[in-house]
Amino acid sequence: MAKIQMKTPLVEMDGDEMTRILWAEIKDTLILPWVDLKTEYYDLGLKHRDETEDRVTVESAEATLKYGVAVKCATITPNAQRVEEYGLKEMWKSPNGTIRAILDGTVFRAPILVQGVHPTVRTWKKPITIARHAYGDVYKNTEIRVPGAGKAELVFTGEDGQEIRRPVFSFRGPGVIQGIHNVDASIASFAHSCFEYALSVGQDLWFSTKDTISKTYDHRFKDIFAEIFEAEYREAFEKAGITYFYTLIDDAVARVVRSEGGFIWACKNYDGDVMSDMIATAFGSLAMMTSVLVSPNGQFEYEAAHGTVTRHYYRYLRGEETSTNPVATIFAWSGALRKRGEKDGLPELQQFADRLEKATLDTINSGVMTKDLATLYEGEARAVNSREFLQAIASRL
Ligand code: NAP
Ligand code: MG
Repeated sequence: MAKIQMKTPLVEMDGDEMTRILWAEIKDTLILPWVDLKTEYYDLGLKHRDETEDRVTVESAEATLKYGVAVKCATITPNAQRVEEYGLKEMWKSPNGTIRAILDGTVFRAPILVQGVHPTVRTWKKPITIARHAYGDVYKNTEIRVPGAGKAELVFTGEDGQEIRRPVFSFRGPGVIQGIHNVDASIASFAHSCFEYALSVGQDLWFSTKDTISKTYDHRFKDIFAEIFEAEYREAFEKAGITYFYTLIDDAVARVVRSEGGFIWACKNYDGDVMSDMIATAFGSLAMMTSVLVSPNGQFEYEAAHGTVTRHYYRYLRGEETSTNPVATIFAWSGALRKRGEKDGLPELQQFADRLEKATLDTINSGVMTKDLATLYEGEARAVNSREFLQAIASRL
């Protein structure tokens, strides 16, 4: 059989520990036998990041700007212990943070559903994707612990000397104050990413804030989304048969719980942080969560939502068998290959991505899965190690 051809290379970002081991096995068993894989390879493994003084991370993000589609393995974000373990020159920043800053993107996280692992919420039948704005608000705050009676004010001083002053509160005793901000440019790229992503997956987009209470701050988010939608996306949404709708966060929460799923829920930074953990847990497991970073210009970087699974890696190094779940990493590959196929007009490559996902889900539905899933599974499950699981998928494929 002739292998499926590609036109443009994928940007391949290799990573660390257990996921790096799975990465190579996924390529060897599930992709290379069928696809004449073209990638531009960047080794984001911690050792190589250190050797290149983290230039490799920047270069991989720049390559994503150039080619448009990347697939990323989980990577270690160094802390003091890692600096010692790897003898690092510096405590390099989180690769995901660096890549996000260059692509200026929004992160979309969606659960992968399988029969036998039931969402806690009975009505959910399709995945719910959370789109989290990843800039500002309480994550970039300034706080004061007020020692006693006094006056708090909000003051803006423009570069032109203009001053805007608002009273916050007159304290009669001790308390706390917080200052937060966001910027129009970041909110606008968040909106663009959400609209682009909704079109790319053909799902409705919901957006919620608390604009009834926050009449200036949250209202600005609502207005920017509405302006961009009217000016640039309404027509495309109508053509695609999908809708955009804005509602209050309280109403959104109630609707989400009553829904069947199958839509994207755009959230401000804090709401997205909290709600994505709630959604992931209620759907089952972090090992079954995909994650894609979408830039406002339509560049895509696919990855798994989980980390490098360090505990399993140390067991692997001791020569013990591991049953690490490769599903989210497989779906990162299939997502990237499908997107590459779409951009380059290669239906065979898109079909291959569909088949790879189907073979993976069918394997689980037949009762063969890694240990983490077997413990959640309602029904008869055979827990296998990672290699046996990949081989079972390969034989279906
Ligand atoms: P983790 O790698 O996600 O693993 C935490 C635990 O969750 C594992 O010990 C395992 O539980 C379970 N788990 C996660 N993924 C699994 C999978 N695919 N199959 C089976 N079980 C899975 O998080 P962490 O241990 O906190 O972080 C490890 C490293 O990953 C850190 O250096 C961190 O910086 C990095 N990290 C990277 C990313 C990223 O690149 N996107 C994200 C998060 C963390 P059991 O041990 O109980 O089986
Ligand atoms: Mg969180």
